[in-house]
Amino acid sequence: MAAQEFQCEVKSIRMLTPTVFELAFQTNRPFEFIGGQFASIVIPGAGPKGRDLRRAYSIASTPGGSPVELCIKRVESGPGSQYLYALKPGQVFRAFAPYGDFIYKKRSGRRVCFIATGTGVAPFRSITQSKDFQASLPISTLCLFGVREESELLYMDDFAKLPFVTWVPMLSQPRTENWNGRLGRVTNYLREQGAKFPWLETDYYLCGSGAMIDEVKLILMGKGVTKDSIHQEIYYKPAKADGSEKV
Ligand SMILES: Cc1cc2nc3c(=O)[nH]c(=O)nc-3n(C[C@H](O)[C@H](O)[C@H](O)COP(=O)(O)OP(=O)(O)OC[C@H]3O[C@@H](n4cnc5c(N)ncnc54)[C@H](O)[C@@H]3O)c2cc1C
Repeated sequence: MAAQEFQCEVKSIRMLTPTVFELAFQTNRPFEFIGGQFASIVIPGAGPKGRDLRRAYSIASTPGGSPVELCIKRVESGPGSQYLYALKPGQVFRAFAPYGDFIYKKRSGRRVCFIATGTGVAPFRSITQSKDFQASLPISTLCLFGVREESELLYMDDFAKLPFVTWVPMLSQPRTENWNGRLGRVTNYLREQGAKFPWLETDYYLCGSGAMIDEVKLILMGKGVTKDSIHQEIYYKPAKADGSEKV
């Protein structure tokens, strides 16, 4: 599927968490994509000398479904996320799509481990809800999802109701004592797994911050996982020189 330009009419904008919103829209003609792909959205006049900018967003909704949904973190002073957040139902924006190769690649006899931080969970929602994935399930699907606190959890019900996904949300800094799920980061989860974990029988898909992805890759490679079993979609690079981040 070659990328094409679409005119996208906003259907709704709603907050999924205090800082992440869902943008739902309809395209001016049929829009085909594979779960895990992204759209490149035109941010008008936000670049140098009033030129347009582009920002990439993973498609969070099911291929073939309507409306199309994105889940977007509001970044302070971020031209892309602020432009999209300010849109109103009925307004139209431009997008080029689909792009990307961060799609599920079935390999027989393999397990899958999806690992996300924050809005990095978006492509996994699309993949796991797609017919392509559901028609050729891996032996097992583990989905590790890390955020800082309770209010940042996304799509909990959507994943919890998929019987073929072992959904493991985890909080690094819970605000309350009511959380009875896992604590820590996705990297802690992996470090805690011993020899019984099927390290070498699994294909890994990593999405979110570059710092998380770098750290997870080091852990996996330390277990002997080879590069051809690791797929990644980096949303942004670490903000700090030492690679640390808050999640
Ligand atoms: C292939 C791809 C898919 C992406 N999909 C998504 C998506 O589904 N949802 C989404 O929110 N973003 C996604 N991003 C990030 C997105 O493209 C923008 O970078 C982001 O919206 C910030 O753009 P901005 O213009 O608002 O701010 P900018 O001024 O361009 O960014 C400022 C800073 O915000 C931080 N940042 C960027 N994205 C995030 C994020 N998601 N969470 C926390 N901090 C962030 C980074 O430190 C960045 O340097 C994706 C990026 C890529 C490359």
